[in-house]
Amino acid sequence: MISPRFKKKYLFLLFFVFQFFLMFYISWCPAEDLSRMEKLVLIYQKQIMTQEIELKKLKVTRSKIYYRTEQKVLPKYIKDLPYIYAITPTYTRLEQKAELTRLSQTLLHIPNFHWIVIEDATTKTELVTKFLKNSGLNYTHLNALTPKHYKLEEKDPNWLKPRGVLQRNAGLEWIVTNQNSKSNGVIYFMDDDNTYSLKLFDEIRFTEKVSVWPVGLSGGLRFESPIVTNNEVTNWFVFWKPERPFPMDMAGFAINLKFFLQYPEARFSLRVQRGYQESTLLSQLHVKLNDLEPKANDCKEILVWHTRTEKTKLKNEDKLKLKYGHGSDLSIEV
Ligand code: UDP
Ligand code: MN
Repeated sequence: MISPRFKKKYLFLLFFVFQFFLMFYISWCPAEDLSRMEKLVLIYQKQIMTQEIELKKLKVTRSKIYYRTEQKVLPKYIKDLPYIYAITPTYTRLEQKAELTRLSQTLLHIPNFHWIVIEDATTKTELVTKFLKNSGLNYTHLNALTPKHYKLEEKDPNWLKPRGVLQRNAGLEWIVTNQNSKSNGVIYFMDDDNTYSLKLFDEIRFTEKVSVWPVGLSGGLRFESPIVTNNEVTNWFVFWKPERPFPMDMAGFAINLKFFLQYPEARFSLRVQRGYQESTLLSQLHVKLNDLEPKANDCKEILVWHTRTEKTKLKNEDKLKLKYGHGSDLSIEV
């Protein structure tokens, strides 16, 4: 097949050669021949324009084919490798698609990965539905609404009420219903705004009961972490509420699937004190401190960060409306 670039060059060359002979002819030909020639030139110019449009279309098609091929070569399934079941609560806000894009593009690098995404909404939104469909990932899409009186108000500080509780429970419910004690895997609670190193997933995949590791930028410290002595967790490096049974962040532990299925009723709760979600769930699994498996180089490496995205202020949308009568185009999904 002739490459588009070669074809384009070839067309232009032909056009210039033709122009040259045309000029040469015009210099001595009679008048009626001239008008005929002008018509011919117009016809040829039109043909070239059509060809150029065709070439542009060809280029677009080629880039699409390339993109699809790229997706296909991703390492999605490796035989006998335990699965990672990641549970991600998410909710509608201006930054949602950006968060999900960043997260999903990390997840595309992980083999044997199943993403359980639970929207805090009465119904599944079109944005998330379309997003997941085009993500190239294995996923399950659910929704579970947080009752209004439990939901954060615009002015509330973000620690006032629990976030993602019913959504994580819906994720666990799906696992209990759809997986059995033959499934090899690990459960990980993965908020949509954190930052995850790919190295983390290699470490946690082989969790036997419950594995733990430090979380960067958490609890008002540079990091919070389990304290490890002789390969065993002996204490916790935290400032906030160290008296909690398991004083750690949601991003700092993973549970073996078979082990969880021994306590299939274990769930998070809307009715616990602030900071006690992790402790509530792990207490129901009857794990003791020395059961915990330290990961990330004996908890000396940070492989996940509790990042928070700044809330975007649309301060110029109103100004735009005042000046031009309309804001930015709402039919464009952001
Ligand atoms: N979330 C939710 N509904 C809400 C607020 C948050 O489902 O009303 C989700 C959010 O998308 C995230 C998780 O719950 O995956 C934790 O929320 P957030 O990141 O706001 O909590 P923080 O990091 O501040 O503790
Ligand atoms: Mn967060």
